[in-house]
Formats: sequence, C-alpha cells, structure tokens
Amino acid sequence: MASPLRALIHGGGIGGLTLATALAGRGHLVEVAELCEELDALGVGIIQPSNALHVMREIGVLDDCLAAGFVWDALTICDPAGAVLAKIPQPRMGDVPSNNGIPRPALAKLLARAATAAGAVIRFGSTITELTDDGAGVEVTLSDGSTGRWDLVIGFDGIGSPLRRRLYGDRYAPEYTGFANWRVTVPRAPEVGGVLMSAGNRAAKALLTPITDELMYLGAVFAEAEDFRPDPERAHEQLAERLADFGGPVAEALTEVTDPAAVVYSRISQVTVEEPWHVGRVVLAGDAAHASTPHLAQGAAMAVEDALVLALTLDAEPSVPAALAAWETRRRPRAMWVQSMSRAVLKQETGTPTTPEDDELLRTGIPGAAHVLVQPY
Ligand SMILES: Cc1cc2nc3c(=O)[nH]c(=O)nc-3n(C[C@H](O)[C@H](O)[C@H](O)COP(=O)(O)OP(=O)(O)OC[C@H]3O[C@@H](n4cnc5c(N)ncnc54)[C@H](O)[C@@H]3O)c2cc1C
Repeated sequence: MASPLRALIHGGGIGGLTLATALAGRGHLVEVAELCEELDALGVGIIQPSNALHVMREIGVLDDCLAAGFVWDALTICDPAGAVLAKIPQPRMGDVPSNNGIPRPALAKLLARAATAAGAVIRFGSTITELTDDGAGVEVTLSDGSTGRWDLVIGFDGIGSPLRRRLYGDRYAPEYTGFANWRVTVPRAPEVGGVLMSAGNRAAKALLTPITDELMYLGAVFAEAEDFRPDPERAHEQLAERLADFGGPVAEALTEVTDPAAVVYSRISQVTVEEPWHVGRVVLAGDAAHASTPHLAQGAAMAVEDALVLALTLDAEPSVPAALAAWETRRRPRAMWVQSMSRAVLKQETGTPTTPEDDELLRTGIPGAAHVLVQPY
C-alpha cells in the first residue's frame, strides 16, 4: 500500500513498541495506547534469541540491545548438584549474535525511545473504551476522551488481551498449565557466561541467565496450585525451600536472595486464538493471539517477528484486509510450532504425560528447536 496508513496499537509492550517503530519508520501514522502510566516492565530479565535480535537489527535497535544486555552463545546443562553435563553452542540467524540477556525495563525504554524517534505517539495511561469497525475504517474512543478513525487497530495487549475479549468474548481465556515461574535478579557469578540450566530431577528446573555484566536472574519452575500466591513476607524463603535440592551455582545464587519483594512470581498460562486473528480491520498479535509457555524463551521473539512481518506485509499487499490475511498465513504455523514445542518441553521437564504429537516434537529437543528458529521468519 502506497499511502501512509493510520494505525492504532493497543498495548505498548515488547511487540507493540516494535510494531510502532517498524510502521512509523516506514512513514505510517502510528499511535500506541498503553494502559500503564509509565514503562514499569517487571524488574527481571528476558532472553532475546537470535531471531529476536535479527528483528531488533531490522528496526535499528540491535546495538542498543547489545549495549544494555549480555551476549552469550552457549547453553550449559548441569545436574542439580551443579556438575556440568553439557555445553551446547547456540546457532545464529545471519550475522547477529545467538542470544542476548537484557533487563526488561531497559528493553522497554529503548523500544519506546525508538518508536518515538521514528514518529510514533505513545499515549501512556490510555486504553480503548469504544470501537466500531465499519469496513472502511475503525472509529475508536480512548479513555482520555480522544477519538480517531484508523485504517487498522492492532491488539498487542498481552496474554490477558482486553481486545481479544471484545472480539471473541470469553472463548479464548488464558489456560493455566499448573506450573509457575519464580524469578529474581541477583549479582552475576563470573562463571555464568551464558544460560545455565540445572535440571535432571523431575521436581524442578532452575536457570541462571546473565542480563548485564553485573546481573543475572535466577528462574525456577514448579507445580503450584492455581490460587497459590507467595507470602509477601517470606517469598525468598519459599523459593529457597523449593530449591533445597540444588547445589552449585544455583545454591550460591540463592544466598543472594534476601528480599521477599524482589521475587517475581508468574503463573504459566497459554492462549491460542483458533479463529482468524483478525476481525475486519482489528487484528491480534503476540501474546494476545498465541501466548506460549516460556520453555523456549520465544514468546517475545514471536511477538517481535509478528510485528516486523506485519509491517512488511502491509507494505507489500494492496489492502489492509489482504495484508492481515497474508500476514496470518505466514505467522500462524511458526507461532503454533513454538507454542506446541514449548508445551511439550514443559511436560517433559515436569514428568507430565506426553502425547504422540509431543513425543514427535521432543525428538527435535531444545537444541534442535534453536536451529529451526534461526530459519527465516
Ligand atoms: C516467566 C516468563 C519468562 C519469559 N521469558 C521469555 C524470554 O526469555 N524470551 C522471550 O522471547 N519471551 C519470554 N517470555 C514471553 C514474553 O514475556 C511474552 O511473550 C512477550 O512479553 C509478549 O509480548 P507482547 O507485546 O505480545 O505482550 P506484552 O509484552 O505482555 O505487552 C502487552 C502490553 O499491553 C498493555 N496492556 C494490557 N492491557 C491493556 C489495555 N487494556 N489497554 C492498553 N494497553 C494494555 C500492557 O500494559 C503491556 O504493556 C516469558 C514469559 C514468562 C511468563
């Protein structure tokens, strides 16, 4: 499409800000409605695998990501006592690094800077209150009272997506897997020069992920009741109780965890929108359309791939409806593969019974998946 499009992005998270940067950088008129008053991404880190870094390069922020994070290129597998079992080199997509760990707040800030520099307007503290798609455009009222007419509206509003509820009712509520992730940022131990995964007993898995020269985060997955919440006074002790069987670097990292408020607890859920991801000129992307468990560290990578491919497809196709259909045809198989694979790995690691389809995927394994995911998106 030649003329500039007017695009409203609902949600200024990782995917939404990537899309804002990609679209505004191509001359489109972009606003982002973000519910939070400020960028208050959780104070833990995230892994940007090579395919995500490739997208960061395409939108012009690769160097910023690498400067704010910690590049690593091998996954170390240990037994629960901390003895190294294997060191697995990680593949690259093209000539970008294989992985970068980065603090989430740093990533949020650099993406917001890039989106604004490209010309996008970010409206913090705002959300859609009314939306009418008349086929030729979408009339939207925001919570700040402003109104506008948009060529398309993109829901990058996360796993709990209010826009998804507006489009599909309660048909796609997040499904709790029965497992939860505990994360806490600690000083980086010098021997943690890449992700260190301590596994081998079926009760738990623990990961150490470097996110800067000085910091790493300790992450651990356990079966938890759906209504369980850590005790705000002793979350650090509850985490230590769960990791009591671990030795080596994980046990050493735990000695640094003394503040219960620093422990971030997230239930692991997933969502798949099985109907088309767009209804008229309103489309869902990222976690809103296809949230997966974090077992491949690919959720945000899929969101940023969705964003870049959507910007490219809008440029290539003759109309918004044609672009949304073409985009989904390209994105759905890859996002669904990541979701199925992530879920299969969760089952394998936790001793949950697997299906024949899971077993087929598990033959690829996490190292094999990394090779699949450095293929073009
Ligand atoms: C424990 C854990 C570890 C993970 N680790 C990794 C990893 O290492 N690597 C990786 O690639 N992925 C990882 N993920 C997945 C990743 O965090 C998500 O897939 C990614 O954040 C999705 O991006 P998104 O833009 O779709 O949604 P989000 O990043 O969730 O952004 C949604 C945005 O929408 C906003 N919003 C919500 N409601 C409204 C509203 N009503 N109006 C306006 N705005 C609204 C939110 O405030 C937020 O800013 C992990 C996930 C978990 C749970």
